[in-house]
Amino acid sequence: MGFGAPRDSECPPSEEVLTAAGPALCGRVRRALVFAPDAIGCVQTRRFSGLRESILANAPHVLPMRAAFPPKTPVCFAGMFTGAGPGVHGIRRYEKPVLACDTLFDALVRAGGRAAIVAVEDSSIDMIFRGRDVDYLSEPDDGSVLGCALDLIGRDGHDLVVAYQQAYDDLLHRADPFGTEALTALEGHVRAFALLSESVRKHWAGHPRVSVFAPDHGAHLDAGSGMGDHGLDIPDDMEVEHFWDLDPAAALRAAT
Ligand SMILES: [Zn+2]
Repeated sequence: MGFGAPRDSECPPSEEVLTAAGPALCGRVRRALVFAPDAIGCVQTRRFSGLRESILANAPHVLPMRAAFPPKTPVCFAGMFTGAGPGVHGIRRYEKPVLACDTLFDALVRAGGRAAIVAVEDSSIDMIFRGRDVDYLSEPDDGSVLGCALDLIGRDGHDLVVAYQQAYDDLLHRADPFGTEALTALEGHVRAFALLSESVRKHWAGHPRVSVFAPDHGAHLDAGSGMGDHGLDIPDDMEVEHFWDLDPAAALRAAT
């Protein structure tokens, strides 16, 4: 996007993403959508392969990721939006303090950009990035998060829109994480990303842009309870994929 990484970032930029983006996009992105659904790891998208196909249809570049440890929502999202580990950003368990360290949002604001965070009220993402010059949109549920994010994309007034949904995570803690209800919740997140992607292609066509499907961690079936959980150093919890829509051709069209 043409500005530096957050100051506390410990990671270099992803060479895989930079290569796929190419010179048409590197340093030139003017609009970014980060869709952050809770608890959709590799085990979720592989168990229900139709889901993965649908995500790929909108964001074909796959980046294998490993969740931060412990794989709890605020630990992972703090890492994703700072580039720093728990030892730097300070969130080491399920807690939601406002982060004191530098974030992607701070870096964007310093560069004169405008960000919006659309999230379910009191969720980790809604809480830990507060106190910046960012538009915070706290919504009652996933449906209104989607509606609000679609509205923001249509208005075309933000350089970065982050949208967070949580229905699947809510469900997995009280049910079979791979059952019928779970599949319905997962399908809802994938459908939301498809609608957001469609809106991005329509309303952000005039800008070089990227979209990312970026969950925080996975989840496993706890044999004792018969319900889902996450927080262990096991593949089901730790292995995640991020799906990027990088379209240099669209960037070139936008530039002409
Ligand atoms: Zn989570």
